[in-house]
Amino acid sequence: MEYTIKAIGLVHSCYREKFGIPRQPGLVKSGTGAIELLAPCDREEMFTELDTFSHIWLQFMFHEAIADGWRPTVRPPWLGGQKRVGLFASRTPHRPNFLGLSVVRYHGLRKEKGGLFLDISELDLLHGTPIVDIKPYVPYSDALEDATSGFVQFAKQKMAVQFSSEAEASCKRYQQEKNRNLKSLITEVLEQDPRPASQRGLQREYGMLLWDVNVRWMAEEKGFTVFLVIPIE
Ligand code: SAM
Repeated sequence: MEYTIKAIGLVHSCYREKFGIPRQPGLVKSGTGAIELLAPCDREEMFTELDTFSHIWLQFMFHEAIADGWRPTVRPPWLGGQKRVGLFASRTPHRPNFLGLSVVRYHGLRKEKGGLFLDISELDLLHGTPIVDIKPYVPYSDALEDATSGFVQFAKQKMAVQFSSEAEASCKRYQQEKNRNLKSLITEVLEQDPRPASQRGLQREYGMLLWDVNVRWMAEEKGFTVFLVIPIE
């Protein structure tokens, strides 16, 4: 059986590459973006009353995972990248239909340059991610108090993050120019420790793209130091 689905929107995200994206939504409050709606789903009436909900479910394509295919078992980062579990017991992007599911904070509908956008935050989505469906989050049935979550136990300590004075000054300039709190975004992303499990404990330099900025940081024993924040021309 084969079905065809079409993207109804495209994500504009602060996350410009896979490295650095939080592992689930809700972890980085300063992560922001928007969904640009595509015809025939770019009609305002399709979103009437959606602004009465604080959060929405997004179903989307892990479009940047498709080329790598999928395997029946995966090594989730929760288990230190050592133990394998079945792919359906994980949230890996590498799945038979490459479909993802995230609940994000919803900030409302915006019209810009003839297009229609849904503003969102707390996302875990790459820039350019195709959205295939949108639904309101309804706590009375979606928030399950008695749910258990197997090997996924979220009690992780946050990494310590500090900035060089040069990096701090660049963030300030960026905020004045673009009205985006870049320092909070970088801090929250690094607090989650984006490194793959195999690289924990190494002292080395890393880089990541957030919005139109290249962020360079050093992993040291006691935490991370952001030493350069360079806007990309
Ligand atoms: N909340 C979703 C879910 O459970 O289906 C996604 C969880 S998945 C573990 C999150 C990771 O997917 C991110 O850290 C990022 O590396 C990756 N990702 C996000 N958008 C993607 C895309 N469009 N294509 C491929 N990978 C993506």
